[in-house]
Amino acid sequence: MLNRPIRRVLAAPFHRSNKTIMDRQAKDAPLDIAIVGCGIIGTVLALGLLKRDINVRIYDQAQSLREIGAGIAFTANARKCMSMIDHRIVDCVTAVATANGDPENPNNNMQFIDGFTHDPDDPTADDMTGKTLYKLCAGPRGFEGCHRAQFLDAVTELIPEGVNHLSKRVEEVVDDPNGGPVTLTFGDGTTATADAVIGCDGIKSRIRQLILGPDNPASYPHYTHKIAFRGLVPMAQATAQLGDYRARNQHMYGGPSAHVLHFPVAKQALMNVVAFVTDPADWPLDLAMSQPATKGEVAAAFASWGPTVRSIIDLLPPELDKWGVFDAWDHPAPTYARGRVCVAGDAAHAAAPHHGAGAGIGVEDALALCALLEGVQRSVRGQGARKETVLKVAFLAYTAVRRERSQWLVRSSREAGEIYEWNDPVCGADMAKGHEEIKRRSHKIWYFDIEGMLDELKMEYSRRLVPEL
Ligand SMILES: Cc1cc2nc3c(=O)[nH]c(=O)nc-3n(C[C@H](O)[C@H](O)[C@H](O)COP(=O)(O)OP(=O)(O)OC[C@H]3O[C@@H](n4cnc5c(N)ncnc54)[C@H](O)[C@@H]3O)c2cc1C
Repeated sequence: MLNRPIRRVLAAPFHRSNKTIMDRQAKDAPLDIAIVGCGIIGTVLALGLLKRDINVRIYDQAQSLREIGAGIAFTANARKCMSMIDHRIVDCVTAVATANGDPENPNNNMQFIDGFTHDPDDPTADDMTGKTLYKLCAGPRGFEGCHRAQFLDAVTELIPEGVNHLSKRVEEVVDDPNGGPVTLTFGDGTTATADAVIGCDGIKSRIRQLILGPDNPASYPHYTHKIAFRGLVPMAQATAQLGDYRARNQHMYGGPSAHVLHFPVAKQALMNVVAFVTDPADWPLDLAMSQPATKGEVAAAFASWGPTVRSIIDLLPPELDKWGVFDAWDHPAPTYARGRVCVAGDAAHAAAPHHGAGAGIGVEDALALCALLEGVQRSVRGQGARKETVLKVAFLAYTAVRRERSQWLVRSSREAGEIYEWNDPVCGADMAKGHEEIKRRSHKIWYFDIEGMLDELKMEYSRRLVPEL
């Protein structure tokens, strides 16, 4: 009897101090973020968060890590963002990027020319002499091609062991309204928890569907009615057919309702070719976005074009892949976040590839999220803010700052495709006008005020945070 109250008195302070220690430990513990998808954006984001002392796990449905063997070019703003995320990422680009083949003009990264007009009575005559080659300078190392698989291999090497979890298809995400952790459920029936979830799960994002709802058309990508035929050509073959300058430097050939692009990759060992063709037919969403194709299909689409373009098509292997080009233009996502779940990269704003900037803008998202989550961690540790509250605030600030620019890219990419294909109501077949228009739009992408974005994020975050604290 006598012991009982004494024990209670002794127990109370012990319990309180224990709780205080546990609270402090919880407050000081690093944030724990689940990233869905280990494509370019998920991997780059993970590296940035790890560098900022934030715990990360990446879940991907794939059984093994792989990228397709095609080219990708990064703009100067994307490279700058990479260096701010983790400078080792830029080293990976530099290691695998291919400089232009013209030592006199290393920065003429984009060149446009009419690929259609030629003398039909002499279909083999040189159809390029006398035409203007419109050049767009993207600055030093402004737009260099990389082999996708080589780049992803290089950045994945930097991910510490135990971060990537493969064969984990995310099906459901539940954000506990009572402040408990966010729970992810996988296709194999297992679950995992995290403080927040970032969907970098690409154009058919499950996380976007969960944020916007299954009945919202913005939850799904839509067909742009363009097919991209993609192939890699050994450079020796390309130079033999096209000559050194043409094969080793980026060129885009415009013409009616189609266009062809090529640029060197793999340190000039390969020429990456993408031929875009307008397709009036449908491409159902449940059909895989890449399908086998033959060179005959591409050749038929360009049969009435000039001999230079036809000879480029002739370089393609007899069997190649064709990609249905989908994007988010018809139904833009009204938000990129709900509660402690958000989306980045193609999952948020899949764009047609006509500016070659989809991944670059996704890298900007990754930098924005790194900066915000670093701020969240500081708010929790330094000001004792509630983790779940500040995470929600950070994701609201992210949508507020990133949505306008990334959705502009979606729109402008569609419009750029129409300019290249002489369908733009103002430019028509006037390549000079088209060039000016593409220049204006490209400059908006390349000369982006990254520091301005970071200031804006800070402002949006603090503005929302004050009433929450
Ligand atoms: C022809 C073409 C050319 C292009 N050229 C350029 C260019 O030159 N420059 C440029 O900047 N951009 C370019 N782009 C755009 C660029 O390819 C994309 O923006 C970029 O690859 C998107 O990366 P991501 O990481 O967001 O998505 P993804 O690369 O699609 O990665 C998504 C990942 O999520 C995983 N995943 C999906 N669903 C789930 C799930 N439910 N659970 C778990 N994992 C899941 C997938 O397995 C995948 O690994 C081009 C696009 C095309 C089509």
